[in-house]
Amino acid sequence: MKNKKKIYLDFASTAPMERGVVLAMEPYWSETYANPGSIHSCGQDAIKAVDGARGTIQKFLGARSPHEIIFAGSATEANNLATRGVVKLKTPRVAKPRVITTRIEHPSVLEPIRRLAEHGEIEAVYLGVDKGGLINPEELKSSINENTVLVSIGYANNEIGTIQPIQEAVKIVKELNPKIIFHTDAVQAIQFLEADVKKLGVDLMTVSAHKIYGPKGIGALYVKDGIKLESVIYGGGQEYGLRSGTENVPFIVGFAKAVQILEKWKTQTNIKKLESLRDYLWQEMQTWKRGFQVNGVMGEKLLPNNLNIHIPSADGETLLVALSEAGACVSSGSACASRSQGPSHVITAIGGRENGANLRLTIGRQTVKDDIDAFLETLKNLT
Ligand code: PLP
Repeated sequence: MKNKKKIYLDFASTAPMERGVVLAMEPYWSETYANPGSIHSCGQDAIKAVDGARGTIQKFLGARSPHEIIFAGSATEANNLATRGVVKLKTPRVAKPRVITTRIEHPSVLEPIRRLAEHGEIEAVYLGVDKGGLINPEELKSSINENTVLVSIGYANNEIGTIQPIQEAVKIVKELNPKIIFHTDAVQAIQFLEADVKKLGVDLMTVSAHKIYGPKGIGALYVKDGIKLESVIYGGGQEYGLRSGTENVPFIVGFAKAVQILEKWKTQTNIKKLESLRDYLWQEMQTWKRGFQVNGVMGEKLLPNNLNIHIPSADGETLLVALSEAGACVSSGSACASRSQGPSHVITAIGGRENGANLRLTIGRQTVKDDIDAFLETLKNLT
């Protein structure tokens, strides 16, 4: 609709870049533009910027050394490096390695695993989840056998926002066999939850800049010292041989700036503010008595910015289009998968209903109560 203020409630898809990030990136387009791999002084300025950014992210993630941070072109790429990288580095003792993951992972974890299994390179085991989207630690325990090389469990789900017990899962895995590599996709989690890799106990962890108000097209994989991976991109050997290609200096600098801003933002007060806006959104909807239900969980196991609801009286696609025409930008699930047909694999895994609409509403730093009220009014008229 023309001249109507847009209401953006899709922060889990992506977030706007912070002004500070834009400014921090500025000099690296056409002032400090040299290739960080060049040994001349111009190249040295560029590598200094990359090293500085690596140090910032290392510190934020509690990694022991800067070389544990591997920059990649996206979290998608980092997830491919984590999953394929472990499997492709064949351990001679295992003929057909087992990889354990969950049914509700992001496609950038599920797809490489599915392809590896399809090609007979691994045996893939998919953990189920309960109605809230939580894994069962007992199922994880019983899925581990002597061939298991990798366990990949997302920290917080991108569609329903459910937070998995990562520390407990790591403990189960490592107690059975400390050699099994534990990977977590922490893309949706790090802005709200414990992000220290030592405290979490993980070996590999994926993060992305654009979910934390940094640039799109840059991610990183934390690779614990001593963990060996096969690269998925071959070339000049940048990023300690794990991700060849000239480093994207402005994006790397922007990523680090977004992390610095996050470090300051990540207070209980700010997190609670988001949570109470989200709770207000849900409480208001309930007063309409239209049978809306939460997909997943509420309470402490739910990300503070996420509300995924089932609306029995509406058709999903029709509702999304109508909301969009009314200026409301929300999603029915993962933006990355929304161009594909069929119900969301996450909603299916939690036993979601076939009929009706599912809406993922995710709020962010810029969301104010007026946005929520405007959205509520629009939704009430459409359902
Ligand atoms: N993992 C999760 C949990 C996500 O939510 C996303 C983005 O939607 C990704 C991975 C992929 O991130 P990127 O857009 O950086 O490839």
